[in-house]
Amino acid sequence: MPTALITGITGQDGAYLAGLLLDKGYRVVGLMRRSASADVIGERLRWLGIIDRVELRDGNLTDLSSLIRIVADVAPDEVYNLAAQSFVAASWQQPLLTGTVTGIGAANMLEAVRIARPQARFYQASSSEMYGLIQEKVQNERTPFYPRSPYAVAKLYAHWMTVNYRESFGLHASSGILFNHESPLRGIEFVTRKVTDGVARISLGLAKELSLGNLDATRDWGHARDYVRGMWLMLQQETPDDYVLATGRTTSIRELCRIAFSCAGLNYLDHVVSSASLMRPAEVDVLLGDASKARDRLGWVAETSLETMIAEMVEADLARHRARLPR
Ligand code: NDP
Ligand code: GDP
Repeated sequence: MPTALITGITGQDGAYLAGLLLDKGYRVVGLMRRSASADVIGERLRWLGIIDRVELRDGNLTDLSSLIRIVADVAPDEVYNLAAQSFVAASWQQPLLTGTVTGIGAANMLEAVRIARPQARFYQASSSEMYGLIQEKVQNERTPFYPRSPYAVAKLYAHWMTVNYRESFGLHASSGILFNHESPLRGIEFVTRKVTDGVARISLGLAKELSLGNLDATRDWGHARDYVRGMWLMLQQETPDDYVLATGRTTSIRELCRIAFSCAGLNYLDHVVSSASLMRPAEVDVLLGDASKARDRLGWVAETSLETMIAEMVEADLARHRARLPR
C-alpha cells in the first residue's frame, strides 16, 4: 500500500486529495498544525466523511524539525505540499508570515524530503497568481511570471526552489501551476464561495446585500475535485516536470454573480454592491490558462463546468444555512 503525506490536509485541496488517495488504496497521513480549535479544523475532512480514515500528525511548515521527524517516521512514497497562507488579500496584511509559510515553508518541506526521504516524489502547489500582471494573453508553462502580491512572490520562490531541488539533487519534484479552483469546501473569504454563501443567505432572508470589491477582474475557475486528480497524475509520471492546470475559459466576477444568483432565481443587480474598501492594492486583472501540456502528457482535462460547480456550491451553502435556522 503506497503512503502519501499531505501538508494542508485540512484545507480544500488537502481534503479532496485525501479522499482521492484513499479511494486509490493509499495510506494517507496529513500534517496538521496545532490549534486550540482542532475540532473545528477537521471540518472539511468530516464533510467528506473521511476524518477517521486519515492519520493526522502535529507539525508546522515553519518548524523544520517537525517536518524532518514526520517525513522520517512516515516514510512517504509521495509528498504533496499544499499548506500555505493561501489568501492573496491577507498577504498584504501579513506579508512576512506569508513569505515564511508559503515561501520558506516549501523550502523546509523540500529540505525535509532531501534529508529524510529523498526517494519520495514531491508535489508543490504553485499558482497562476505567479503570472500576475500577465505577459501573454493565455498563460502556459513557458509564460514569464510577474507576481503582484506578497502571496504570489512567496509562491514564485517556492516554485523555483522546487525546480532547483529537482535540478540540483535529482529529487522527483513537480510543480503544478494551478489556476483558481473552487468547491463547496473553498474558504469563505474567496470570491466564489463568498458569492455562493451570499446567495444562500439572501435567498433565505438572512441578508439583503453582498459587498464585493472589483467586479471586472476575470479568473479561470475549475473544480478542486478535478484539480487534485491532476496533482496525483503528475506524481505518477516517470519524470518530474511542471504543469499548468486550467479550464481555458475566463469569467468576470460580475458574470460569476449573475450565474450564482440565478441559481436561486435572483438577479444579482438587486443585491451586489462594489465597495472601494475591498479593492486590492495591486490587482490581477485577468487569468486564462492553457493546460494542453497536462492534456497531452497526463491525459488530464477539467471536467466540471463553472455553471455546474456554482450550482453545487449554492446548494451546499443553502443546506448549511438551512441547517442552522431555528426550527
Ligand atoms: P486552503 O487555504 O484551503 O488550505 C491551506 C492549508 O494550509 C490548510 O490546511 C492550513 O491549515 C494549512 N496551513 C497554513 N499554514 C500552515 C502552517 N504554518 N503549517 C502547516 N499547515 C499550514 O488552500 P487550498 O486547499 O485552496 O489550496 C491548497 C494549496 O494550493 C495552497 O498552497 C494554495 O496556495 C495553492 N493554490 C490554490 C489554488 C486554489 O484556487 N485553491 C490555486 C493555486 C494554488 P489550517 O486548516 O490550520 O488553516
Ligand atoms: P485569487 O485569485 O487567489 O486572489 O482568488 P479570490 O477569490 O480571492 O479573488 C479573485 C478575484 O476576485 C480577485 O481579482 C479579487 O479582487 C476579486 N474580488 C472582488 N471582490 C472580492 C471579494 O469580496 N473577495 C475576494 N476574495 N475577491 C474579490
